[in-house]
Amino acid sequence: MLSQIKILPQLLAEKIAAGEVIERPASIVKELLENSIDAQATEIQIVLAEGGKTLIEVTDNGTGMSLDDLKLSPQRHATSKIGTLNDLENIRTLGFRGEALPSIAAVSQLKIISKNTEAQSSYELYCTPFPPYFETRAINQGHFLGSSHGTIVKSENLFFQIPARLKFLKSKSSEISHVREWTEKLAIAYPHIGFKLISDGKTILNFRPEDISSRIQTVLSEEDTIPLIHSSHELDDFKISLYWLQGHSLPQTRKLFQIVNKRVVKDRLLQQALLFNFKQVLMPGQFPAIVLYLDLPPAHLDVNVHPTKTEIRFLESSKIFRLIESSVSKMISEQGHPAYIKSSQFDQPQTYSSPTYFSAYFNRQNNFQNTSTNTETLYSQDQDFTQLDLSGEQNSSLKNLMTYAQYVGSLFNTYMVFELNGEEIILLDQHAVHERIRYEKLKNIIHKLAPAESQALLLPEAVHFPIETKKQIEQSIPALKQIGFETEIFGENTLLFRAIPTPWENFALKQRLQNLVEKLIEIENQDLLLDHELFEKIASDACHSAVRAGDPLKKEQVCSLLHDLENCENPWNCPHGRPTVLRIPKTRIEQWFQRKI
Ligand code: ADP
Ligand code: MG
Repeated sequence: MLSQIKILPQLLAEKIAAGEVIERPASIVKELLENSIDAQATEIQIVLAEGGKTLIEVTDNGTGMSLDDLKLSPQRHATSKIGTLNDLENIRTLGFRGEALPSIAAVSQLKIISKNTEAQSSYELYCTPFPPYFETRAINQGHFLGSSHGTIVKSENLFFQIPARLKFLKSKSSEISHVREWTEKLAIAYPHIGFKLISDGKTILNFRPEDISSRIQTVLSEEDTIPLIHSSHELDDFKISLYWLQGHSLPQTRKLFQIVNKRVVKDRLLQQALLFNFKQVLMPGQFPAIVLYLDLPPAHLDVNVHPTKTEIRFLESSKIFRLIESSVSKMISEQGHPAYIKSSQFDQPQTYSSPTYFSAYFNRQNNFQNTSTNTETLYSQDQDFTQLDLSGEQNSSLKNLMTYAQYVGSLFNTYMVFELNGEEIILLDQHAVHERIRYEKLKNIIHKLAPAESQALLLPEAVHFPIETKKQIEQSIPALKQIGFETEIFGENTLLFRAIPTPWENFALKQRLQNLVEKLIEIENQDLLLDHELFEKIASDACHSAVRAGDPLKKEQVCSLLHDLENCENPWNCPHGRPTVLRIPKTRIEQWFQRKI
């Protein structure tokens, strides 16, 4: 029988191997930037055409290559950076696998122009359709970003022979965003290097060489007024440096940077350690803008885990976790919190903190995300806190329940108190009730069950977006209008909000509008209003502006709140899962006074 296994032709094998390193234009840009950085460049320029699909060109003023090195550079496992197994334990360069250039050559048309200090002229390496596939020649090219030595790498027509890959590429703006993200990451790791990104003739980024803090401000912040907090810590051979843009948060981890031994990585352990203590500071679903620089002896780190080298392994991971976690905790407690986050409405619910005082009916069908563990333990721990039978209650409507309820008054300006049939007390948390009502109102607007109501802003709020996403933002304007946001594009990178939906109100408005724009950018090429997550964001953001506990209510307000709550689809919880209604039976009160045992 003939053998089933055959060795793949070299060209096919090359393409398969390249797939591991190159997924999209940004992967090429990352590899080329790393090569320029390893070649000690101080200026790097990236030029894209069509989001990198037709052209990616990276020019640097680094050391350049000799003719002999240039000839070797596109071969697999050809590297100047390591030579022995020992070197692998002590890597100080970004590259070392000798895979980037051959991979780029396998998936696009590669051309390299390079000149080192000794050479008389520049040399060009170009592709040929026949073996040996690469040829070189001397050319007339004197300048590399103003320097007499350096390298230009051009990758044209990405995936032109691999349609299966080509069709997975995203829209132009999304590919540019990925390139921008990688450029920003490396720019944060190497602030002394200038980076310029040009796309279809337009300059998207232009970072001049600067110190760490100003580079971080340039990349992370749109406003100079946001304070950048720095704190550094050391333990044995481990060094940590943290930069936190205080008071700035966003709904995803896009502005969370991890730089380990000058290498940009994405590590779960580091992320968890960084975010651990921010839970107390930021609203659920919000993430900080923070940069972590971690330096440790190379032998404590394995960077050879994945071809793209963004994954790493630590020798002493729990020590590193603890060090980062405690450093962040210290930084937060020493430097204080942004004022708006301290606001009472983000405090953990206290509803169950004194369980001995009452028994409660809960509608447990609803999601008690915030309190379930809390309630669970208190039930089980406290004998006096009996769980009442809920079975009959779940189906009965709030309207039925409240038909004969008498409003008695308000407790602590926070809870509305009702008496029902001389049998029980009903407590409504006015803030939770209001949140629920606003949430459902917006939901109805979005589902076109109710017309949008807008309120004009006295001063328009400006929110910036990355310029390559302008078209996307423009396209979302009609959908925003449908919900009640009056917006207008201003210049190349600003969305002006002139009016907002009435249920939104003004509280921490800027932050919430920024979150909204972040979400708009994330959702690509689809109907905005069909996006469940976006809707949740818009609607639950509305809740943060609801009547707060502590505001005294008039009797008419109570009636109207109750009426609106009764008409809600789910009146039993606020949209964050806290209960709106609590019931205390009279028998329980009688037990407290020992009238009945
Ligand atoms: P690696 O970076 O892992 O060594 P690459 O395939 O990315 O592998 O590059 C191969 C070699 O080509 C590098 O080791 C380096 O010697 C040379 N090289 C690549 N890009 C540049 C550059 N921009 N400037 C100088 N030398 C370069
Ligand atoms: Mg490399």
